Amino acid sequence: MRFIDPHIHCVSRTTDDYQYMARCGVVAVSEPAFWAGYDRSSASSFADYFRHLMEVEPKRAARYGIDHYCWLCINAKEAEDVQLSREVIKLIPPLLDHPRVLGIGEIGLNKNTRNEITVFEEQVEIAAKYDQLILIHTPHLEDKHKGTSIITSILKNDKRIKPERVLVDHCEEHTFRMARENGFWAGLTIYPVSKVTPQRAADMLEVFGTKMVCVNSASDWGESGPNYLTDTCLEFRRRGHSEAEATEVFYNNPCRFFGQSAKWKLKPIA
Ligand SMILES: [Zn+2]
Repeated sequence: MRFIDPHIHCVSRTTDDYQYMARCGVVAVSEPAFWAGYDRSSASSFADYFRHLMEVEPKRAARYGIDHYCWLCINAKEAEDVQLSREVIKLIPPLLDHPRVLGIGEIGLNKNTRNEITVFEEQVEIAAKYDQLILIHTPHLEDKHKGTSIITSILKNDKRIKPERVLVDHCEEHTFRMARENGFWAGLTIYPVSKVTPQRAADMLEVFGTKMVCVNSASDWGESGPNYLTDTCLEFRRRGHSEAEATEVFYNNPCRFFGQSAKWKLKPIA
């Protein structure tokens, strides 16, 4: 079976992870820009990071037969510094035509502060102005419901934003409907220490259905791994769902969402 990991931070992963993914049938990944685990000291640090996402990881991934795409933004965790954020946002428009860049992401909220909302809105503005796909990071744990509600209201109130061009990621049982019933794609992140387990993801796929859902590992520098994507597929199959149903979730759905960008080449399997 073939897989796509729609959200993974390859800059933090080893070559063993690339090899694991290749052996499991992962043929493409998308890597949103995010927090490095520490606050960067200047906009030039982001300029280098963007170059790493656009130039270095696609080459590393290609050695394992994996097609690598990325997203650009300043993440919510560093958005508290509005002045730095604005310097970073200025770097983005000239890079949007790069063949590896799918859109603006992962933007969103972390602690739901006023400054985070300001920087979020300014990046939604860039996405609208340049007609970009959007990948949304929703906050963790206790801030998630409120944050998802603020994010989805801002997006719904902007008539230029087409909900089907937005993936609201890190959904859980109490936020999934808010994303999908408003017409957005819903992302399930299999990151057991702070997000969803393979079992909970399989439950949600069964309860909510598999339309407009993307499952990802969001593996980064924390306790995470690309195996959580494939483990979730195994759990889904163990419950009696066919390979064709699994292909819909783990391959075709990401192809459909990303395929709204002309840069994405893979097509859903009939
Ligand atoms: Zn992420």
